[in-house]
Parts: sequence; C-alpha cells; structure tokens
Amino acid sequence: MSNLAKIGCNFQNATDTCVMCYNNSETVDHLLIHCDFASRIWAFYANNLHILTTPISLDQVWLTWIPSLEAHRRTFWDLLTRAIFWNIWLERNNRIFNLAFLSTTAILFKISHMLIDWCSAARDPTLHVSSDSIQSVKRSLDFLSARSADLASNSI
Ligand SMILES: [Zn+2]
Repeated sequence: MSNLAKIGCNFQNATDTCVMCYNNSETVDHLLIHCDFASRIWAFYANNLHILTTPISLDQVWLTWIPSLEAHRRTFWDLLTRAIFWNIWLERNNRIFNLAFLSTTAILFKISHMLIDWCSAARDPTLHVSSDSIQSVKRSLDFLSARSADLASNSI
C-alpha cells in the first residue's frame, strides 16, 4: 500500500493504512512482521517452538535471522516463515478485495496445516525438517482446537 500510494496507484484504498490493524502505514516490514496481527502470529510460533528472537525486517529474514538459528531448525523455519508470509498476504488481500476477515486463530490453523502439508510432501532427504518441530506444531494445533472449543462453549 505504501509503495502504491507513493506512485498514486492506490485506487482500491484511498490511504496506505494497514488493513490488518488500521494503525500504521502498510509497508512490507509492517505487514509481515511488525503489525499487531503479524506479531501475534510470530509470538505464537516463537513461544510454542521455543525460539528467542523473531525477524526484525524482511531483508534480514534470510540473510541473518534464519542463518542465526540452530542448523537443525533452519529448513523448518524457512518453510514456516514462507507459510506465515503467504497466509498474512492472502488474509490482507481477502480483507481488501472481498471484505472478509478471518481471526488470528483461523490464520494460525491455516499456517500450521500448510506447513505440515509442505513437510509431508517433501521427499527430498536433504530437507532435514526436524520431526520435533513438526510435533510441536501438531501439539499447538491441538491447543488451538481445545481453545476454539472452549470459546465456542463459553459463547453458548
Ligand atoms: Zn498493521
């Protein structure tokens, strides 16, 4: 949005405001990393998968952040990062073009299922995706399912 506004091509929206939080200009770094919506997603995976840092910019992700992770976690986090970015981008477009919204929990489900599918589909033995990491994602899905069920039963 920020780039489209700079060249006067933000026809769909008259502003460059982020549609995920309505609090900031939508830059790439804001949308995918710093937005409250993105921050909740990063925090969920950082907490569940026990990593201490999350990326601070898109440029830094593949240049320094993923290489700074333990070797056995790099491929997994590379895939997870791509799944996070892709699903935030899809949700952002869904909000702009379809005026439809999914919750953070729904996006977490989509990211986790996409990641598990990608890891299952990978037949490359050099991929080295840690099965511990996949199990952690599957456990986090169980946690999200239980939380969703609690929320649904409390709303009745
Ligand atoms: Zn935002």
